[in-house]
Amino acid sequence: MTKHIFVTGGVVSSLGKGLTSASIGMLLENRGLSVRMQKLDPYINVDPGTMSPYQHGEVYVLDDGSETDLDLGHYERFTNSPLTRDSNYTTGKIYQSVIVKERQGAYLGQTVQVIPHITNEIKSCISKLASDDVDVVITEIGGTVGDIESQPFLEAIRQFSLDIGSENCLYIHLTLIPYLKAAAELKTKPTQHSVGQLREIGIQPDILICRTERSLGKEECAKIALFCNVPVEAVIEEKDKDFSIYEVPLSLVEHKLDQLIVKKLGLRAGELDLTIWRDLIHRLRNPDYEISIAVVGKYAEHRDAYKSIYESLDHAGISNKATVRVQRIHSEAVEREGAERLLAGVDGILVPGGFGERGIEGKVDAVRFARERGIPFFGICLGMQCAVVEFARNVCGMDNANSTEFFKDTPHPVICLLDEQKRITDKGGTMRLGAQPTRLSTTGKAFGCYGTESISERHRHRYEFNNEYRDLFTEKGLHVTGTSPDGALVEVVELTDHPWFVAVQYHPEFKSQPTKSHPLFHGFIQAAVARRAERPERISKTEETA
Ligand code: GLN
Repeated sequence: MTKHIFVTGGVVSSLGKGLTSASIGMLLENRGLSVRMQKLDPYINVDPGTMSPYQHGEVYVLDDGSETDLDLGHYERFTNSPLTRDSNYTTGKIYQSVIVKERQGAYLGQTVQVIPHITNEIKSCISKLASDDVDVVITEIGGTVGDIESQPFLEAIRQFSLDIGSENCLYIHLTLIPYLKAAAELKTKPTQHSVGQLREIGIQPDILICRTERSLGKEECAKIALFCNVPVEAVIEEKDKDFSIYEVPLSLVEHKLDQLIVKKLGLRAGELDLTIWRDLIHRLRNPDYEISIAVVGKYAEHRDAYKSIYESLDHAGISNKATVRVQRIHSEAVEREGAERLLAGVDGILVPGGFGERGIEGKVDAVRFARERGIPFFGICLGMQCAVVEFARNVCGMDNANSTEFFKDTPHPVICLLDEQKRITDKGGTMRLGAQPTRLSTTGKAFGCYGTESISERHRHRYEFNNEYRDLFTEKGLHVTGTSPDGALVEVVELTDHPWFVAVQYHPEFKSQPTKSHPLFHGFIQAAVARRAERPERISKTEETA
């Protein structure tokens, strides 16, 4: 029978519930168990696809085209649990399905209510992931205990243990133990209150994971255990990791979290083997090079907006034995201050995806700088479209060339709306989304990175490369090196007389893992390392010590 782990959060938001859930998933998988991961988000949007990255960070896209919460990115980076549209539910999605059923007459004669109809719907979404070949389902509840909107979810997970038996459910609560400088003490009261609130609802957490900036002493652990009604060994410390998030599972193991879960749920698990993860941390700590990569986007100040891109750069750093220092450059700052001032000295430039006109010209300037100076360049989605616009304007002499997303009546619409998008007006799940096959030409650098002609990558866009310009661009040196299998949609373009200039219409950042960096990110960082090594004024660490 499938066992269920529920992860809730208390005291404050942004405690890293996603990361902790993903780490738990990784540890259980490592012990030979089959795991499924799921996030329940209390907001009313049907999915995060219509939200600004300022609100909600990046929208993470799955193979099946669902637009999901960025925590699912952590799940995919830490585990091999297959994710689908059943892996992320919001209040909006739950209500939408209940309301559709109500209109179909599924509840004829009844008053449709939060309890039991909404809670039943939530429970059925959790049960969907359970099956004969799944040992554990980990369900993370978004938000913080005490929020009005998360109550139906907490009520549903409370009922869940009544339905399937308390021995089959485990409640993990993640809290914060703040350190008060004035008192020189770690404070446990907020955690006591948070657990108090959970117990009021009828949930007694089995395990408390305590985020803290300082190690918890025996006394603090005993106090938390007593006031929160858990055994002292179930008070697990999760100290802040200022070095790397990939250390989180290792530190949870130090506090025996995996053993505790296996014991409490009566799981038949194998031995832990963390060799690969320890090696990864070792590589991170002992790089041969240090390089700097500029990510030029419009949400530069927002850490979560390009989450998967930053992670993928780290992964490629690990595979290339390099520390990647990311410079988050605001594209509007490039417009104001000029590319030279902000980008001179970087070893690689990446322009990520995005929507809307703001900051576009700064991105185009950044592409130009990379092209003209021979700096490794990686364009992703909108970044690829900007690369095409820049090439049209500055190499082909097409003044005012643009994407019709930004300039409807441009004389040179080098990027234009996809045919399939022309009649779509609704927003939310209506873009070209999810995994699509791409065929690579064997002459390109992209092929060199992947080592195969057929690839599948995830998409999220409405606009595309305008094929009318294909021949002209090729003649001038911008080559199409990847297309949809029928050749109709351009997926990859490259400059040949440049050390490394690859731009893709899809989002490779959604398929990179710390233990298996994405081939294009690997190639990009490899080129950046090579550039750095070439420059006498900025020699690599190995050369310094040689
Ligand atoms: N706004 C562009 C489009 O819709 C690019 C999208 C993206 O970067 N994800 O095609």
